[in-house]
Amino acid sequence: MSITIAVAGNPNSGKTTLFNALTGSNQYVGNWPGVTVEKKEGILIGHPEVVLVDLPGIYSLSTNSLEEELARDYLLESNPDAIINIVDGTNLERNLYLTTQLAELGIPMVLAVNMMDEVEKSGAKIDGAALGNAFGVQVVEISALRETQIDELARIATQAAQKKGHFLPLHRFSGGVEHALGHIEEVALHQQPEHKQRWYAVKLFERNELVEAELSLSAELKAHIEQDIRQCELEYD
Ligand code: GDP
Ligand code: MG
Repeated sequence: MSITIAVAGNPNSGKTTLFNALTGSNQYVGNWPGVTVEKKEGILIGHPEVVLVDLPGIYSLSTNSLEEELARDYLLESNPDAIINIVDGTNLERNLYLTTQLAELGIPMVLAVNMMDEVEKSGAKIDGAALGNAFGVQVVEISALRETQIDELARIATQAAQKKGHFLPLHRFSGGVEHALGHIEEVALHQQPEHKQRWYAVKLFERNELVEAELSLSAELKAHIEQDIRQCELEYD
């Protein structure tokens, strides 16, 4: 049986370098449906049953650009078996915004912290265990350029894809926000597929107009959700 793993990350996080290291010359290039953005797929070295899909480089899944929309639609509709989220270890804070969004999707995920050669050179250390705990994922510290820990990443990602339940990320907000999200799911999202509900709830909490339109929420429902959001804004200033 074939397994699909999507590679997601910010522009310049080293996605192409990693993709090449993971697939070697076993790559084929096409286009995303209906657009001229390049879509690269490849076979994972050492794991002939695994197809890697290179998503466009993105900063969020907020559908602010064609690339974000392609990535989002792919993740929500094609149900890959796992995600490798590559982040630039020298720029963690900015990169982890996308990670929080990917962690909402209900897809098994492995965090590849890249540029570890640079991180080490600067004398910094990354607490991989704490980072993994924050998102409920396994963390592999790699250098895509030097090809360090690439086999380990391939092994863990393949395992995550095969044993889905064990590698589901879990990202929790503060209590009041979780309460609001639960309420939004309850009033507006119970007809949606279960694994997408949380992602939609977060988007509605962010007042994302595209998602509001996509779900064709009634004015009444929107007003109801607005109360939950206001409550949190009051509570957390
Ligand atoms: P993409 O935009 O995410 O596809 O990133 P690229 O793979 O094109 O990499 C962006 C830049 O970072 C290139 O100059 C790479 O050589 C460099 N790079 C990628 N991975 C590493 C790494 O592990 N260490 C270092 N030092 N540089 C890296
Ligand atoms: Mg690239």
